[in-house]
Amino acid sequence: ATAAPTQQEFIFRSKLPDIPIPTHLPLHSYCFQNLPLFHDRPCLIDAETATTLTYADVHLATRRISAGLHSIGIRKGDVIMLVLRNCPEFALAFLGASRCGAPVTTANPFYTPAELAKQATATKTKLIITQSAYVEKFKEYLETNNNDVKIMCIDGSPEESQDTSVLHFSLLTNSNENDEPEVNITTDDLVAIPFSSGTSGLPKGVMLTHSNLVTTVAQLVDGENPHQYTHSEDVLLCVLPMFHIYALNSILLCGIRAGAAVLIVQKFEITTLMELIEKYRVTVASLVPPIVLAVVKSGDTHRYDLSSIRGVISGAAPMGMELQEAVKARLPHAILGQGYGMTEAGPLAISLAFAKEPFNVKSGACGSVVRNAEMKIVDTETGTSLPPNKPGEICIRGTKVMKGYLNDREATERTIDKEGWLHTGDIGYIDDDDELFIVDRLKELIKYKGYQVAPAELESLLIAHPNISDAAVVPLKDEVAGEVPVAFVVVFYKRINRVFFTESIPKAASGKILRKLYIYVWYNGNFIV
Ligand code: AMP
Repeated sequence: ATAAPTQQEFIFRSKLPDIPIPTHLPLHSYCFQNLPLFHDRPCLIDAETATTLTYADVHLATRRISAGLHSIGIRKGDVIMLVLRNCPEFALAFLGASRCGAPVTTANPFYTPAELAKQATATKTKLIITQSAYVEKFKEYLETNNNDVKIMCIDGSPEESQDTSVLHFSLLTNSNENDEPEVNITTDDLVAIPFSSGTSGLPKGVMLTHSNLVTTVAQLVDGENPHQYTHSEDVLLCVLPMFHIYALNSILLCGIRAGAAVLIVQKFEITTLMELIEKYRVTVASLVPPIVLAVVKSGDTHRYDLSSIRGVISGAAPMGMELQEAVKARLPHAILGQGYGMTEAGPLAISLAFAKEPFNVKSGACGSVVRNAEMKIVDTETGTSLPPNKPGEICIRGTKVMKGYLNDREATERTIDKEGWLHTGDIGYIDDDDELFIVDRLKELIKYKGYQVAPAELESLLIAHPNISDAAVVPLKDEVAGEVPVAFVVVFYKRINRVFFTESIPKAASGKILRKLYIYVWYNGNFIV
């Protein structure tokens, strides 16, 4: 598919033909549509406990959870917040909530109590599902919301719990599946509300419907698919956080739809990761550039049998050409692909590297537009669409595009125009082979290790300090993290010229700071103490 000027517009489509996508199905029905084929196959493998749940186990658990949610008063449209490290319960709770018609808002468990409370308030969360380590973070939020909000833990034993106000997840998983409520879910109903700052301002709830997520999954795994992104023989590595759209959509949901086994890893540590890849014969590793870099830099790759990996996909942040070449040298059996996506629309482009000829794959490209979607590149000054090889703002259109930002009509209208085009805030061009190259970012977002950092959020924190009168936060390039936020602040008095972040402050036994010990060395954008 080349750029055909349609009504004076250059619109890019996939080289792959469109496929029928069952957008009329609720997400959970769609994901388990092929259940009879995979019934006894492994679905979720917990690397932490070395336990495996089959497709039948997972399906039954989600029905029980749906019944359990109904029994504790959750009704269609009530929001459930998942604040979990990667674990099978994340997947079970997400799909159980989908069955019950309750949209799930996902949050990073490392967020501060204030950040979590803000998200819970914005979404009017009714139930928080978390781990005991994070319960304390919700203390204040729960106190101010009296009995209106429930909290539940997936760990610890229900009998031992001293705190009767904290429910236990077994309450859901021990429910009777036959008590499942009958919920009428329409395609336009919300299923997930992850948060993203979009092109500007503070993080906002991204309203994703059942039809949005069915589309984004189908685009990668359905039909005659030369992407061969995943299929039922695969073991997919899920080390990326499940609260982010990349892992949620492109690993977990795609994996389940395709009948693959999803290996859930709670925490990234390079040696453990390689052990797990060898042990479970991982076939597809979806990663972010900092993890790809760690693999390349590790001197140990030869000590493990990593030959099972047939594909490595990097996404969520730019991966340079050099890194791409280095990983190819480290994992010669694997095909390396890139994906480019965003919370608001799932994967926009994916490398056709997994396909055989005639698709070209160039280093530095982040793929071609996914099927069943339209892409255009627009001139940021005039708004007109551009032909190949001309950089401009990347726009996408299709049933994959979010319904809008939660309670923020203005931001929604700024992002999705009247013709349905979502403006990504990324600058790129499409070459003569339909490959997309991202060259710059128009929006203010900072990507730290693939995680979003909204400059506006840090600026408002800084400005809240009594001695800071103004602040600006911008990204600084960083070899490991991709980008790190740096702040420029205007201070009133007793002016600090520079701030260095360090792990600890060296002190004498008396508690006195050993000021003389500080030697700052400027190293690659970081100050080393
Ligand atoms: P998020 O919503 O957290 O997934 O962030 C989406 C943003 O991450 C995009 O709009 C891009 O700015 C950036 N991004 C995602 N994937 C890539 C990629 N492959 N190359 C460059 N930037 C990317």
